[in-house]
Amino acid sequence: MRRYLLSDEEEAVRQAVHTLVVREIAPLSALSDRQELFPRRQLELLGAHGYLGMIVAPEFGGAGASYLAQTLVIEALAEVDAAAAVVYEVHNALAVEAIWRFGTPEQKRAWLPDMCQGKRIGAFALTEADAGSHAAALTARAEQVDGGYRLRGRKMFITGGGEADWYLVFATLDPAKKAEGITAFWVPKGAKGLTFGPPLEKMGIRAARTSEMVLDDVLVPASHRVGEEGQGYAIALYLLDGGRIGIAAQAVGIMAAALARARRYARERRQFGQPIGHFEGVQWRLADMATDLEAARLLTYEAARHREEGPQQRPLFAMAKLFASEHAMRHALDAVQIFGGYGYMAEYGIERLARDAKVTEIYEGTSEILRWIIASHLLKDWYDTP
Ligand SMILES: Cc1cc2nc3c(=O)[nH]c(=O)nc-3n(C[C@H](O)[C@H](O)[C@H](O)COP(=O)(O)OP(=O)(O)OC[C@H]3O[C@@H](n4cnc5c(N)ncnc54)[C@H](O)[C@@H]3O)c2cc1C
Repeated sequence: MRRYLLSDEEEAVRQAVHTLVVREIAPLSALSDRQELFPRRQLELLGAHGYLGMIVAPEFGGAGASYLAQTLVIEALAEVDAAAAVVYEVHNALAVEAIWRFGTPEQKRAWLPDMCQGKRIGAFALTEADAGSHAAALTARAEQVDGGYRLRGRKMFITGGGEADWYLVFATLDPAKKAEGITAFWVPKGAKGLTFGPPLEKMGIRAARTSEMVLDDVLVPASHRVGEEGQGYAIALYLLDGGRIGIAAQAVGIMAAALARARRYARERRQFGQPIGHFEGVQWRLADMATDLEAARLLTYEAARHREEGPQQRPLFAMAKLFASEHAMRHALDAVQIFGGYGYMAEYGIERLARDAKVTEIYEGTSEILRWIIASHLLKDWYDTP
């Protein structure tokens, strides 16, 4: 059996969460995908077992676990349900972590315990229709008013939009200041003037609802500003560093599922009087799938171990997502190929892996943007250390 260099605590999390997701979450995932059912129940279950807000200190309701432990949960979830995995990732790496890293003690006390139990789900609202990769060009406006701020604008492609209970919304106080004008706000679902479009129909991760968000003069008290005025863009980038480790883990989970299913099928399916795994054409695909899975997993774990070092390891976080997502896409399609016609049929759940894998190359930084980040650090001093 393959073993990784994990601490005792991480190894215990890996085994326990694997058992939990196989027993409790895997049986729900095909139906959730078909009927686009938001995985709230799955998150509540994970919360009840202590798998939400894992990096948060126990005094605020978390487990005080390592970043890698949380990454292992995403990977295990994605092996059976990539949609639940991304909702988990957004909740933990983008919403919970925003309050954990940048919240005041009062904000932590008020919001984290419920989020660590899965009673409240968090979402992240940065993207706009005309500001995707170039998020600093966002136009949602924040205006100072008596006691707080008024928000106005539209956000696009919000995971959990309309389902989540809290939204970390990025808006600018002064467009002339560009990135330095952007500020983060914590907005509850029921806020007056906050509405959502219907779920957008998607290729994959269909259970992870994605919606447009409209902010129509939403009043936010000053106590709901996260971080300082003008710090929002730096907060978004900081969170996306961790988010990329999470999406890398989601891709690793998809790849692990593709390999597990393909190797079992290669041993069982017979053609020309023998298992198809006896044919070199199938063996080479399996060998590449296993090798790339190992590489992606190790790179993702390495990135998770360096998370606490923050933006100085940004290229490492980008590399993990870039490598894992592109190989997940490739090898999910390899699994479809090994299954032949059965792989193309929804009943076998292999085509879902390919549909789910594609978005890992797009959200939280496209592959092109990640290559740009990596290259720009290479041309500076990232590899210069002795
Ligand atoms: C299912 C889903 C869920 C999402 N969830 C969220 C969410 O919860 N919250 C949120 O804020 N956002 C979310 N997003 C948005 C996501 O992060 C953006 O889609 C992504 O950042 C890309 O932006 P875009 O779609 O506008 O593409 P664009 O930025 O328009 O890019 C289009 C193409 O041009 C390329 N490109 C752009 N700029 C460059 C460049 N400088 N060099 C080379 N190529 C370039 C891109 O790589 C891409 O191939 C989600 C998206 C999806 C699909």
